[in-house]
Amino acid sequence: MSHHCQALIIRCMDFRLTAGLPKLLEKAGYPAGGYDLVSAAGAGKDLLSAEPGEANFLLKQIRLSQKLHDAKEIVVLHHDNCGAYGLADPAEEEAAHKKDLAEIKDLLRANFPGLEVKMYLIRGVKEGNLSLEEIK
Ligand SMILES: [Zn+2]
Repeated sequence: MSHHCQALIIRCMDFRLTAGLPKLLEKAGYPAGGYDLVSAAGAGKDLLSAEPGEANFLLKQIRLSQKLHDAKEIVVLHHDNCGAYGLADPAEEEAAHKKDLAEIKDLLRANFPGLEVKMYLIRGVKEGNLSLEEIK
């Protein structure tokens, strides 16, 4: 293994994240070029899917990032106004993200005890004014 990266980042595929996200991530300690990136609808949502194939896709990406690039951290980025959640009420959507992020964090910690796990919520997607908050 000759090349390493700090983290694997799992984000939603939503195109509205693409332009603004790298700057936010850099501020949060993830400079461009320093992480593996998985882009999938709903980000980590499929880890909680009843359909095993959906969760397995993401679990495989994490295992490979750890194996091939020695990633030390998994970062899951959910965002407001996410079509994969499809909830019209922002408060209801925020509650759903926080509930899922807590479950995803437990699941990842159980499956990858050697990796640090961090969860973030991106806000302001609808307005085009992105901000990032770590959800502990
Ligand atoms: Zn989304």
